Order: sequence, then C-alpha cells, then structure tokens
Amino acid sequence: MQTVTLLGATGSVGTSTLDVIERHPDRYHLHALTAHTSVEKMLALCLKHRPEHAVMGTEETARQLSAALEKQSVATCVSWGEQALCDVAAAAEMVVAGIVGAAGLMPTLSAVRAGRRILLANKEALVMSGALFMREVARSGAVLLPLDSEHNAIFQCLPREHRGGLERHGITRLLLTASGGPFRDHDRATLSQVTPEQACAHPNWSMGRKISVDSATLMNKGLELIEACWLFDATPDQIEVVVHPQSVIHSMAAYSDGSVLAQLGNPDMRTPIAHALAWPERIDAGVAPLDLFTVARLDFQAPDLESFPCLRLAREAMTAGGTAPAVLNAANEVAVDAFLAGTLGFTDIPTVVETVMSRIKTQGADELDMILSHDRLARREAQDVIEALAATAAG
Ligand code: NAD
Ligand code: MG
Repeated sequence: MQTVTLLGATGSVGTSTLDVIERHPDRYHLHALTAHTSVEKMLALCLKHRPEHAVMGTEETARQLSAALEKQSVATCVSWGEQALCDVAAAAEMVVAGIVGAAGLMPTLSAVRAGRRILLANKEALVMSGALFMREVARSGAVLLPLDSEHNAIFQCLPREHRGGLERHGITRLLLTASGGPFRDHDRATLSQVTPEQACAHPNWSMGRKISVDSATLMNKGLELIEACWLFDATPDQIEVVVHPQSVIHSMAAYSDGSVLAQLGNPDMRTPIAHALAWPERIDAGVAPLDLFTVARLDFQAPDLESFPCLRLAREAMTAGGTAPAVLNAANEVAVDAFLAGTLGFTDIPTVVETVMSRIKTQGADELDMILSHDRLARREAQDVIEALAATAAG
C-alpha cells in the first residue's frame, strides 16, 4: 500500500488519476487531495475517496468545506494555502503534480526536496526552474516520472539508465509528437478571429482550459520541448517536433543504429498515469485496447512555425537558458488568461510573449528567488503589453 497526495484533484489530470487509483484500492491510499476554489467538487471527492487531508486555496473555501464535511461526519482534515500544499506534498510516498501553471512550483518542489516519487504533469514547474529542480531531484533521491503523455512515451522508449547525455546511450534524437491542436490547418487571418471556446475544443484530448489554449498555440509543445530537455538531459536541437494528427504515437526515441522506438496507445491520460503510478510494474488503466484497424493510418507533417510562433519562442528561451524559460512561461500564463477572458486576441498571445522576452534581461536561474522575481516581473510586463495592445485597438 502506498500513500498518495494528489495536487489538483479537481482538474482533468486529477480526475483521470482518481479513476485509475479507484481501480486499485489494494495498492494506493489517498493521503491528501487539493483543489483551488471548488468547494462543491472537493466535497464530492472527499465523500467518495475519504482522504486524510484536503487543501483548499483560501481560508473561506477551507471553512466552507470543513463545515460541510463535519455535517456528514467525515474526518478529513482541511487546511488552506501554499504552505499546506507543501506540507501534504512532502508527507506522502507518491505525489501527483496536477496543479496547472506556476502555482504548482512550490508544492512540487516540496515533494522533490522530501525525496518522494513525483508523477509530474505540472510541466510549468519544471520549465520555470529546470536546473534547480533537477539538482534537487539528484540531491534528495526523488524519483521523477513523467505523466505528460509525450514524455511518458519517451521514458518508455529509453533505456532504464539514460542520464548523462543522450549520445552516451546511443540515442540521436527525441521525436516529440504534436496533434497540431484544433487550428492545425488554419491560416493567420482565420487564426486572429478564433474564440476561447474554439481553442478549448481539442480534437483528441479533453483537458483543462489553459493547456487547451497552449495546445492550440503550440506553446504546449514548446513547454514540452523544454520539459524534455530537463527530463532526458537533451539539448534543444536533439528534439524534433513532429505533427501527428491522430495522437496515437505519443512520442519516439531514435537510436544511432537507425532504430526508432515509439509508444502507441489511445489518447487517454489514464495510460501514462497508470504507468507512472505502478512503475516498474504494470496495472490496468481502464483504457480500451488500441484498435489499429479503426485508426487505419498514421500521418506526419512538419509544424508551421510561421503561423504558430510559440514553438520557436520556447526553443529560443531554452537555448538562452537561465531565467528565460520562467519569463516565457509567466508571460504566456498572463496572455492565456487574457485570451480566455476575452481581452486579447489569439494571435496576440505570441506577440505578448515575444515582447516580454525581449524586454527582460536573462539572468542565471540557480536561485529560487531569482526565478520567482523574474516570474513576477514578466507578469507585470505582460499586463503592460496587453493593456498597450488594447489601447491601440481601441484608438
Ligand atoms: P485543470 O485546469 O483541469 O486542473 C487544474 C487543477 O489545479 C485544479 O484541480 C485546480 O483546482 C488546481 N489549481 C489551479 N490553480 C491553482 C492554484 N493557484 N493553486 C492551487 N491549485 C490550483 O488542468 P489540467 O488539464 O488537469 O492540467 C494540470 C497540469 O497538467 C498542467 O500543468 C498541464 O499542463 C498538465 N497536463 C495536463 C494534461 C491533460 O490531459 N489535462 C496532459 C499533460 C499535462
Ligand atoms: Mg503532452
């Protein structure tokens, strides 16, 4: 029996994780569930899963949850805020990092520092703090397993020991597949008119709103490129992005003898989640078997970097190193929020990110303080750029 803390229990990754965990009550015990705002959803989860701890985003939501649980005589202990997230993340044997965005950084780092098994979905945490994050993993002996389907696929295609540079293990390239998102074949003129609803309707995956927009701009693939560099000791030029609209091949590793290993499966997050939960064993994930006759064909094309500049920007940020990926990430989070709120156009998302990146000088990112201060700086700059764009549009 292993204890699990699920950060971001009410989200898309959280829901898929609970679905897998429920199938294996003999293997996993929920230490803690966390959610940001939804008392109602969290109450339902606590009634069903009876975790020892529940963490909410604010004192008020924690109070509401606590009162509702008391009424139902449920003994779950309720707390709130970042320190509580860090505490529950450090206390379980396994931690599923399923919070979206920079908000997941401190709790995920807390699990890393406590030497836990971390199942990483929250790519933004690694993108922001890559070198520091990986140094802490090495120091604490934490086991870092990727939940992101592409990285989980690559992990499965690599030899068990793959640290120290890909070439040492005969690996020449990592092929990161991308569905291309809902606007794969749109031209720039049509792209500028797309709405949040259209952006969130992903053809193959059902996901949270932020990652859905990132998938539509290809920033998700850019963040994943950075994530892959850190997870697998790769350089940006060892990673090739391949658009593969069916999302059946989840990514590949190419070897010096010409072999290319791929992991295939239905596009269902329960597969990588079950893989990482049970690794190195295998468990049932509740996923339908892959029917290749229904899939029928697998297509591949090069990404369109002209229409989707975010992928280029992410590659540039990783190459620049230091605080540049944290700046890219923060500017993107603010721009995506503004797009979802209807105050920024879809094609202005990369404009905001590129402008912010050009305005902030990259520094070394060895210290957490430096990363966090660049995150804040980039958010302020992004707000300024968005306001200036709105003023130009109005005038
Ligand atoms: P989501 O929006 O569905 O869920 C986010 C979760 O984080 C919710 O439980 C929410 O309560 C919590 N949360 C949000 N803001 C918070 C804050 N400020 N403090 C504390 N908690 C907060 O998102 P998702 O689609 O489940 O994605 C979660 C993470 O997993 C993202 O980093 C995403 O990139 C990554 N990921 C998701 C998928 C997927 O299929 N959904 C696949 C690969 C990677
Ligand atoms: Mg992914």
